[in-house]
Amino acid sequence: MQMEKLVSLCKRRGFLFQSSEIYGGLQGFWDYGPLGVELKRNVKDAWWRDMVNAHDELTAPAGAPAAYEMTGLDCSIIMHPQVWKCSGHYDLFHDYMVDCRESRKRYRHDQVRGRWVEAKDQRIFVTTMASAEDEQDSIQAKALKFFNLRAKHAEQLKWDGGIVTLPEVDDASKVLGPDAKSLDTLTEPREFNLMFKTTIGALGGEEDTAFLRPETAQGIFVNFKNVLDSSRIKIPFGIAQIGKSFRNEITPRNFTFRSREFEQMEIEFFCHPDTSHEWYQYWRDRRMKWYTDMGLAGERLRLREHDPDELSHYSTGTADIEYAFPFLPEGEFGELEGIAHRGDFDLRSHMEGKLDEKSKPLEVQLGADGKPKYRGSGKDLSYFDDDVWERDKEKLGLRSFKEYVKQNKDAAQPGAPYQYIPHVIEPSAGADRATLAFLCESYDEDEAPDEKGKMQTRTVMRFHPRLAPIKAAVFPLVKKDGMPDVAKQVYRDLKSHFNVFYDEKGAVGRRYRRQDEIGTPFCITVDGQTMDDTTVTVRDRDTLEQWRIKIDDLVEDLRPRLV
Ligand code: ATP
Repeated sequence: MQMEKLVSLCKRRGFLFQSSEIYGGLQGFWDYGPLGVELKRNVKDAWWRDMVNAHDELTAPAGAPAAYEMTGLDCSIIMHPQVWKCSGHYDLFHDYMVDCRESRKRYRHDQVRGRWVEAKDQRIFVTTMASAEDEQDSIQAKALKFFNLRAKHAEQLKWDGGIVTLPEVDDASKVLGPDAKSLDTLTEPREFNLMFKTTIGALGGEEDTAFLRPETAQGIFVNFKNVLDSSRIKIPFGIAQIGKSFRNEITPRNFTFRSREFEQMEIEFFCHPDTSHEWYQYWRDRRMKWYTDMGLAGERLRLREHDPDELSHYSTGTADIEYAFPFLPEGEFGELEGIAHRGDFDLRSHMEGKLDEKSKPLEVQLGADGKPKYRGSGKDLSYFDDDVWERDKEKLGLRSFKEYVKQNKDAAQPGAPYQYIPHVIEPSAGADRATLAFLCESYDEDEAPDEKGKMQTRTVMRFHPRLAPIKAAVFPLVKKDGMPDVAKQVYRDLKSHFNVFYDEKGAVGRRYRRQDEIGTPFCITVDGQTMDDTTVTVRDRDTLEQWRIKIDDLVEDLRPRLV
């Protein structure tokens, strides 16, 4: 599939627009149009329903070590700045960027790609930011221009190796920047914090600086105790949240894949340390299955376990669910979701002060003065399993938990195994990236007969029915003989059940095409026979099969087909 075709369909049919387009757009920001908003809502609703509302808390699902509970949160975007100091984002959440002294543009170091080439006794590294399919053409055009050669003399360019990224090049003086005409215009890579800064209140001093959240996860950690204290929830359980996150990406690109404002769908799953690795495996597989159930089956989707040397030592596993987006070079995949075993790193950091991720066992990171570099909340974020304590206390011959802790005061965790800091499994997904993957996967072109029976190429978005923005379209075959009135009544009856659309404009074949192009799974047509026997035809978007059904049976016929 060519990406330009999808991008143009998204604009033409109202899935996605560039933000502030009438002012020339704003890089890294996107608006969802009338159909896009329905699609993305359906993605988020399917996630929330499958992970939270429809989760059966009484039965252990296949592959899970036990039954578990799920609940949700909706936290504020701006939080106490200390949250980001203790989470590590303040110090560590950065990318490397390079600036071009000639073009005044800024690039993410690892996203600049190029190729070594030699001509006229000079060997240089020509770079580009063009998309994968245009990369080589762009590099060649730049190299020809640099060496002052015509296209017909392209054979004078001697290529050395394939296309590689800028961090793989050690001689900056030979680099021709993506938008530069001369060599050696790129600065050394510099760290750049990705958090957007903002100011709280009217005074606006340094102490009023706050950040737009770069992830939704921290809101869950800092509310862990609130959720425990306000519900009767017991470990193992998960807290889900969907919401906006902001990252000041240096080079936002690839449509919505890397945006500066985007939405995340995250779960923090709290469990006992002893079973955490089993829970990690469960969530990794459960999340992978969700994408395949929603239609991303096939070799473009893959689960990639990180190698042990990529893991932080407190984690026993991290996996990425990745999709081979069509704008990526052949064989490359882009992350849709990361599933990480995070141990007790986050809860302890918010409790004791930011931990040093390199220490083993984990210890609070100290500043130059020997005190914690970033102080934690000092609040107790441990979990007390009173069911197990009640079960065991008589066996232990103790009256109170205090006595137990006193007895074990020299142990590393005197309250264990009854009181402990839970381990966390974090499935962290992007709603926009998932929506983009569903758009890419759905795009298809096939042949279908037009109204005269002639085969024509048709564009069809093969969305899973749960994700399709419009579930069914209702048409009168012609605009006469009472058909529009009956069709309008069918539309009204269906509208309270599903998102349906009424259309009487143009030839019926054209109306089918318009619905195929936006992925409507069913088209319902009122025709001459409807007037005699109150049946309508239903047409399936994918198989093009048609069947007749009584108007009164439509809802029950469609319902199971839409789940
Ligand atoms: P990447 O390496 O691609 O920048 P990441 O590993 O930093 O992603 P996480 O911090 O794990 O991403 O965020 C979880 C999810 O949030 C990602 O899997 C992705 O779906 C989504 N996400 C992260 N950054 C962006 C972005 N700039 N635009 C859109 N979605 C994003």
